Amino acid sequence: MKNFNPADNIQDLQYFGEFGGVNPSISDSSTYTFLSAKTMFDTFEGNMEGCYLYSRHSSPSNLYLDKALAAMEGTETANVSASGMGAITPTLLQLCGSGDHIVSSRTIYGGTYAFLKNFTPRLGIKTTFVDITKLDVVEAAITAETKVLYCETVSNPLLEVADIAGLAKIAKRHNLKLVVDNTFSPLSVSPAKLGADIVIHSLTKYINGSSDTVGGVTCASQEFIDSLKNVNSGASMLLGPTMDSLRSASVMKNLRTLHIRMKQHSHNAMYLAERFEKDGLKTVYPGLKSHPSHELYLSMINHEYGFGGMMTLDVGTLEKANALMELMQAKNLGYLAVSLGFYKTLFSAPGTSTSSEIPMDEQIEMGLTDGLIRFSIGLDNDIERTYQMMKKCMMELNVLTSESILTE
Ligand code: PLP
Repeated sequence: MKNFNPADNIQDLQYFGEFGGVNPSISDSSTYTFLSAKTMFDTFEGNMEGCYLYSRHSSPSNLYLDKALAAMEGTETANVSASGMGAITPTLLQLCGSGDHIVSSRTIYGGTYAFLKNFTPRLGIKTTFVDITKLDVVEAAITAETKVLYCETVSNPLLEVADIAGLAKIAKRHNLKLVVDNTFSPLSVSPAKLGADIVIHSLTKYINGSSDTVGGVTCASQEFIDSLKNVNSGASMLLGPTMDSLRSASVMKNLRTLHIRMKQHSHNAMYLAERFEKDGLKTVYPGLKSHPSHELYLSMINHEYGFGGMMTLDVGTLEKANALMELMQAKNLGYLAVSLGFYKTLFSAPGTSTSSEIPMDEQIEMGLTDGLIRFSIGLDNDIERTYQMMKKCMMELNVLTSESILTE
């Protein structure tokens, strides 16, 4: 773990284009010619290294990005996909079939939750949702049918932290695959190094970082990725959520600045979280000592990338949350929008947006309150200026009162 640095691994890759280009050439073909029929047959069988058959299976551009993301996560290889859900759903369908069971964190992205709760039961796959921070509860939910333990490193939207090493031990003991969605914490946490079998990202967020495309990746062993791409039985190959080569080339270029962006996202989020907590607002940020998993997270992260850019504030009611978000947007502090990892701050009320798939009683049970605002803190150059402007909005709407400001 000591010598593993994900950003250095990306930096050390060298890809050249035709004619000596400093960027690799973009493959602009859906199909590929063969000089011999035998080579074509062998490629179909998956036995020909360096040969391409058809771009739903793989393309040179996608393989460059696969390799870079595998280097980042420290896995043997990877498979990029057209969206984060395009990585999550084939991965789970490859691991589970009718009669199988999944133990999943209950605080996960709403789309993943909806897939496990509403869609996979149609295929005979059952899921038990648990509080992932309680390892004894996780272990007690495992049955003879369980195949997968599923969680997010830092959960969406409540920012609970999963003890990846602890979960990996449980997975090993019961012969399960530990699948971790690391979308909120690229570079900061390296789940495979902590024992996860499969690491997934929505590239849509921090990794691409420019909110101009959706994308996803599954990072895993060669054996698992080969099974996903198998022409006869692979869920990725057969369901077809393939990333387009033009897009993978653009995501690749953005990946190179991820380390700089993550440091600034983390710096800005830490700054605002500390200030708003001091002002008396209910603030959740894994970098705060008050966060229930602060010590655990501290023990898991690659320190230089910090605690990430996600933070939540509870402003009491949905009305106040909505008014504050509208005012902050009007003052050009960020955008009222779902998603995360953009240069501009993004905010939304998860209960009515990204987590609206989760039924109200379950939202209450997991602590997803009406007044909760999820912030993806941007790359603002002067974060003190941002803080002052946000505070002014909060004062105007009585989210913060003059007493709390005076006690500073
Ligand atoms: N995982 C997490 C943690 C997410 O926040 C999201 C999307 O919001 C996804 C997965 C799904 O990714 P995509 O929207 O790229 O399909």
